[in-house]
Amino acid sequence: MIDVLIAGAGPNGLMLACELALAGVHPVVLERHHTPTGEPRANGLVGQVVRLLDRRGLYTRLTGDSNPPAPLPSFTFGAFPLDLTMLADNPHYVIGVPQARLEATLAARATELGVDIRRGHRVTGFHQDEDQVNVNLSDGTELSCRFLVGADGGHSTVRRLADIGFPGVTEDRSVSRTATVTVPASHLDPDTGGLLIPGYGRLTPFQHTRTPHGLITWAPFPGRPAILSTKEWPDTPVTDDTPMDLAELRASAARVLGADLPLALDGPGLLRRLTSGNTRIADRYRSGRVLLAGDAAHVHPAIGGPGLNLGLQDVANLGWKLAATVHGWAPDGLLDTYETERRPVAERVVMSTQAQSALIGPGDEITGLRQLFAELLRKPEVTGHIAALMSGADVSYPAEPADPLAGRTAPDVIVHGEHGPVRLAELTRTARPLLLDSTATFAETAAPWRDRVDVVTGKLEGTTASALLVRPDGFVAWSAGDAATLRSALTRFFGGPAAGAGQGRNRP
Ligand SMILES: Cc1cc2nc3c(=O)[nH]c(=O)nc-3n(C[C@H](O)[C@H](O)[C@H](O)COP(=O)(O)OP(=O)(O)OC[C@H]3O[C@@H](n4cnc5c(N)ncnc54)[C@H](O)[C@@H]3O)c2cc1C
Repeated sequence: MIDVLIAGAGPNGLMLACELALAGVHPVVLERHHTPTGEPRANGLVGQVVRLLDRRGLYTRLTGDSNPPAPLPSFTFGAFPLDLTMLADNPHYVIGVPQARLEATLAARATELGVDIRRGHRVTGFHQDEDQVNVNLSDGTELSCRFLVGADGGHSTVRRLADIGFPGVTEDRSVSRTATVTVPASHLDPDTGGLLIPGYGRLTPFQHTRTPHGLITWAPFPGRPAILSTKEWPDTPVTDDTPMDLAELRASAARVLGADLPLALDGPGLLRRLTSGNTRIADRYRSGRVLLAGDAAHVHPAIGGPGLNLGLQDVANLGWKLAATVHGWAPDGLLDTYETERRPVAERVVMSTQAQSALIGPGDEITGLRQLFAELLRKPEVTGHIAALMSGADVSYPAEPADPLAGRTAPDVIVHGEHGPVRLAELTRTARPLLLDSTATFAETAAPWRDRVDVVTGKLEGTTASALLVRPDGFVAWSAGDAATLRSALTRFFGGPAAGAGQGRNRP
């Protein structure tokens, strides 16, 4: 029987497959399409997910950069520029790669890890009992698995079949238009990479710009076609029944800017009109042996690009817990903490994207609200709060109140051990639980868990804690207390001590 069957080879299904494979479970991924569609969606990964990808060795694969990721000096929130240089501890990272490249990278990594990806197989039904799930495919065959994960997108079949509700709202007042374009050289601003538009002025690159008539964004990505997008709130609803052409985008840009911007399509490129959007969270992430992940569990406006920051960190949270359940060492209730820990994060993403959607909207009241907001953003503590919200650096799972780091993402510690300095991001490539110990005293306490938990000793740079227990998803399970609190954290997250303790090994 298959241990875990994943419906959907989107980014979240593929990342979950990698996490499970690293944890010693070999999942099967079923994807309805025979080949990747290459549908243009995300243009980048935004927030703490960049650190997660670094911790799996995927940052360098995606960017070609072998240096650790560096935070971004500026970003945008609700069409306000965010000056992140004013922050002492800037948590905002970005990888500017298109989704198709991310999916190709994750598929290659999953294949390397031995994951069985079966394309051209659509999940059409399932039936579960206490021990297994029998899954029906479109070709009439059936597969049995111990767990089924629906990572099959916002219109999830698995969610519908599991009878899990998807409450929320549909917004159909606005219309967004997007294309990959070139503009005349005379309109390019060599100083900023933005545009100089006669009759309007300068358009800053990579910022949403709000005018009294709508929103416009110019994104000149290096090494690939630039993207121009507009968003309007027309009095008469726009329907989706005809394909968009470039003239429609140019007319929209002219309305938003009050000035003409000549455009040419760049390559076969992208021409897209979106007329509605959903904001919804599944009313449960789990029904027995069936779980939801990624867009199947939550959808929201794409503004600010939070989708993959949320989804990929969801599956990092789910992967090790599901693997522990399959292996049989998961403590009672561990799998359910997937939802208790991650649903509040989805709720904050919904709050953030709805707030931004309100701030970019039309009308004098919104203009007044924006003036107030602009004043607030001059305060570093406000910009810091927004940056933490957008990046997910404020995520904090329930933990012992006396332990200040527990439940938070582990700091980017450097361990100075016997073989020289090593970044935490290099130690976490195996996705195994990790005890970092500068005292060399806690290793003995952790010895009965050494089949599940690796121990690394050395001086810890980048934290005031003398020891850290780091979960596979990069969150702190425990930070230096005493042996009793360490034992309790090990048991809470990784199950009871093994009989025949101490089979593990110290990592160099
Ligand atoms: C226009 C747009 C722009 C966006 N921009 C950004 C951005 O800049 N940054 C960001 O982080 N996020 C962005 N997002 C969000 C991001 O694209 C999604 O969050 C992400 O695609 C979700 O991944 P997923 O794996 O959960 O679902 P999906 O990517 O939808 O993948 C689901 C997969 O399941 C397959 N499938 C469906 N049904 C079945 C079935 N029954 N059986 C088998 N397979 C099935 C589908 O074919 C698909 O391959 C954007 C989204 C849109 C629409």
